[in-house]
Amino acid sequence: MGIAAEVARLKKERDAVILAHYYVPPETQALADHVGDSFYLARLARELDCSTIVLCGVSFMAESAKMLNPKRTVLLPEPTADCPMAHMVRKADIDAARAAYDDLAVVCYINSTAEIKAWSDVCVTSSNAVKVVRGLPQRNILFIPDMNLGRHVSLQVPEKHFILNHGYCPIHHEMSVAEVDELRRAHPDAEVIAHPECAEEMLGRADHIGSTKQMIDHVASSPAQEFIVLTVVGVRREMERVTEGSGKRFYFPRTTPICEDMVKVTPEKVLASLRDGIGEVPMPTGADAAASALERMLELAAR
Ligand code: SF4
Repeated sequence: MGIAAEVARLKKERDAVILAHYYVPPETQALADHVGDSFYLARLARELDCSTIVLCGVSFMAESAKMLNPKRTVLLPEPTADCPMAHMVRKADIDAARAAYDDLAVVCYINSTAEIKAWSDVCVTSSNAVKVVRGLPQRNILFIPDMNLGRHVSLQVPEKHFILNHGYCPIHHEMSVAEVDELRRAHPDAEVIAHPECAEEMLGRADHIGSTKQMIDHVASSPAQEFIVLTVVGVRREMERVTEGSGKRFYFPRTTPICEDMVKVTPEKVLASLRDGIGEVPMPTGADAAASALERMLELAAR
């Protein structure tokens, strides 16, 4: 029996649903019931009717799914798949900001550990951050962990005072400006679309900035035929799917942006996880406070 057939059989047996992030390998995305970005997966995980959720992504996503579904089994097929940015916050910096400002909200990008979420007042994703921050009563915002997303949001919410934390996604932050300029010279008619985790000088070159899902929606609706895409290359599968038959073309930097943690989640690992229960996610420490920050996000984003 092939992997896809065996996964389908085990899914039925375990009453499981497979969720996958756009950055995992295309063959893993093909096994999933739902493919999406962090916000979509977090929201969906809460609405599913199943006993087991297989989360094809990195550990903070699986932790979020577990906290929003305490009674369900959540499996992370590759338990070592982690996000380096998810750890890039020091508690001492949060304490210092809370001591310095009475009127402070600690706003935490969902790409963070449960422990860091528990130190925060509210979570955000790249697709809802502007809306959630605008909806907060506080004027001072400590944005953690991603300084690039924080800066991007601050420009759209000028009425608030932002304090940024020195965290970043290595894949987005370290994209080469020279390579992008080379792509722009080679494809002068291409639109440049970027994820807000990219560094400031990269975002300055973008025609459109948005979350992974917003980038996918943009390539589907834009009249442009060519796109220089500044995010993780795993998104290509979905971009090609939503533009099938249109002849649209996508160019990524030559030093291909791959998230080494996401690509560890292979179909073989999904199969082993479903078969042997590998990667069962325990309820994280501090889950109540972290889940409140997540719930607050869902509530503010839905307004
Ligand atoms: S792409 Fe960047 S932010 Fe996303 S999981 Fe990988 S390291 Fe983390």
